[in-house]
Amino acid sequence: MSPDSLNIATLDGDAVDLDPTALEGIPEKARVLPSDPRFDEATLIWNGLVDKKPALVIQPESLTEVVSIVDLARDHGLLLSIKGGGHNISGLALADRGVTLDMSRMNDVRVDAKRRVVHAGPGCLLGEVDRATQERGLVTTLGFVSQTGLAGLTLGGGFGYLTRRFGFTVDELIEVEIVTADGQIRRSNHESELDLFWAIRGGGGNFGVVTEFTYRLHEVGPEILGGLIAWPARDHAADVLGLYQELTAQAPRELTLVVTMRLAPPAPFIPEKWHGKPIVAVVACHTGDPAQAEDDLAPLKGLGHPIADLIVPKTYVEQQSMLDATQPKGANYYWKTEFIPGLSDDFLPVFVHIGSAIESPMSQMMMFHLSGAVNEHAEDDGAVGNRDAAYVTGAAGAWPAGDPDGDRYQAWVRQSWEKIKPFSTGGNYINFQTIDDDRARIESSYRANYDRLQRVKSEYDPGNLFRVNRNLAPVQ
Ligand SMILES: Cc1cc2nc3c(=O)[nH]c(=O)nc-3n(C[C@H](O)[C@H](O)[C@H](O)COP(=O)(O)OP(=O)(O)OC[C@H]3O[C@@H](n4cnc5c(N)ncnc54)[C@H](O)[C@@H]3O)c2cc1C
Repeated sequence: MSPDSLNIATLDGDAVDLDPTALEGIPEKARVLPSDPRFDEATLIWNGLVDKKPALVIQPESLTEVVSIVDLARDHGLLLSIKGGGHNISGLALADRGVTLDMSRMNDVRVDAKRRVVHAGPGCLLGEVDRATQERGLVTTLGFVSQTGLAGLTLGGGFGYLTRRFGFTVDELIEVEIVTADGQIRRSNHESELDLFWAIRGGGGNFGVVTEFTYRLHEVGPEILGGLIAWPARDHAADVLGLYQELTAQAPRELTLVVTMRLAPPAPFIPEKWHGKPIVAVVACHTGDPAQAEDDLAPLKGLGHPIADLIVPKTYVEQQSMLDATQPKGANYYWKTEFIPGLSDDFLPVFVHIGSAIESPMSQMMMFHLSGAVNEHAEDDGAVGNRDAAYVTGAAGAWPAGDPDGDRYQAWVRQSWEKIKPFSTGGNYINFQTIDDDRARIESSYRANYDRLQRVKSEYDPGNLFRVNRNLAPVQ
């Protein structure tokens, strides 16, 4: 049931009463108004700190419907957001009082095992793509939490357990179908719409609505050696960090190690006496030869007295969803991270110091190992840049919605960031930026690629229709 008119925010910050006849090109069932029982689910996003309520959600099922919505938003100057998986920490999936294009119904996955490619819809979550490709023993580089949206992760660059072998997710992207601000449907790849293809490989949702992604596939799995091993932080943090430094300096690219410090969750695999106590843990994923994998992980398994050792042979799909439970939808999240060029002896005690000061039961100090394939590309091979990154590290604040200590947990993140910054490459991951990160911070994500990105933005979206993102304001 449509109301007589819809009051919707415009691009210039005012509001307009939109006559419902303007929606005639869009099927009734695709329109979700605030009164619709589907509205809450359609506007649920991962970060509970974000408080935005769109005036209208549209759930397209086809390319034609996407074109109609882009035309509608452009012609009426409506504030438009695009929701992939809704996992962006800044809440970029939603625009307050705007129109949200919820892509969740366009989630087809087609694996072409012969050509070693996968075509995936923009509404896919990572797990949907991994499950489909792994049925054929194939995989592309996606992130560590299976409920994250494919679209947002890819458009910001993307990294995961396979990044050391194959690069950023955008290094595996070979084509997109995209609807640009003029309503044109374009296929952009290494031969066609070159500038656009360069820009979307890291430049986020600034250039249009992507309606299909195509990625290269590799043979990996289905079985790998992976899991988590944890120790009490007080006795072991310095040794674990030292071993992490040593192992990651020489690890084959098949091995990715992530180190984290936090308070032990009340999980069944952690003995009860450790619940709530500081722990240091390493998450490992080895996608190489099984015997080699056992050898490569032996030093880690032999260190001290772990309180849990869950590193076992398992499927790659299991590994990809292992951390899901640590990231519940609707809790409050606030992160600050930096790319770092290596692990200096000076940085290790800083990491331990920050990790030891954690008070929230959900917050973590994290470090992901990236070095390998990403460093073999030129800095301007795609807008993503940051080809000098060897690790990404940072303070990930998290606490239950309504926790009265939220401000204190947020302050821990900011104080930790000050301590991390001196070790940064100068770059940071655009997909981990929070809403309070300013334009200078966006520029520091792209560094030398920023000016070209802005030029491409000006060419494809001169009116800045796609502005609910880490925005590259077009040059006027
Ligand atoms: C728990 C968790 C784990 C994470 N792990 C990783 C990880 O391992 N590796 C990694 O690289 N990143 C990781 N991230 C970061 C992640 O890449 C970003 O949060 C990303 O924005 C999520 O994509 P989404 O589709 O869910 O986002 P959304 O919030 O839905 O959208 C984010 C942005 O993408 C744009 N967008 C979405 N769909 C489209 C489309 N079809 N066309 C054009 N623009 C579009 C939107 O406009 C918006 O600006 C993680 C995030 C979380 C919350």
